[in-house]
Amino acid sequence: MSKRDFIRYSLLGLGSSAVSLKAARALAKGTILKEGATPEPGDRMWRWSKESPYYMVTAKGVKCQICPNNCVMREGAESICRTHVVKDDKLYSIAYGNPCSVHIDPIEKKPLFHYLPASMSFSIATAGCTFACLNCQNWEISQKSPKETENVDLMPDKVVAEAISKRL
Ligand code: SF4
Repeated sequence: MSKRDFIRYSLLGLGSSAVSLKAARALAKGTILKEGATPEPGDRMWRWSKESPYYMVTAKGVKCQICPNNCVMREGAESICRTHVVKDDKLYSIAYGNPCSVHIDPIEKKPLFHYLPASMSFSIATAGCTFACLNCQNWEISQKSPKETENVDLMPDKVVAEAISKRL
């Protein structure tokens, strides 16, 4: 893999812009998750739940160590970012492999200065955010849980395969 290709592939995961389910469907061969994928009440786990590598169990509950919010949660509570839940004293992300935004964007749309000009980037995002900025341009997905958005089944290996197949 050339240096240029490496840099291009490393752009996967950059923040996204507007939701485009049409593009996402085409990209992921039409697997939309919402139907039949809703977790059971009181259960909150689903196929896209993945145990977090960064948490500790405290007397007050499970403490997430991913961002400075340091949420401390018991089972049934919702994290500030809306993407983490507690089950059996373990912390899980419920956003793993189910982005609600998948886009192929010109690199100039990204917050980068003169970086591989005129190239394209593969941009994905899941619902939820650790912030609640009043001027957020992605508020329709940033202030929702992955359970509330229409998502695409796109596990990490498929993200890489799709990006390579599109020669991004
Ligand atoms: S906002 Fe989300 S990532 Fe941040 S500490 Fe809370 S659960 Fe963890």
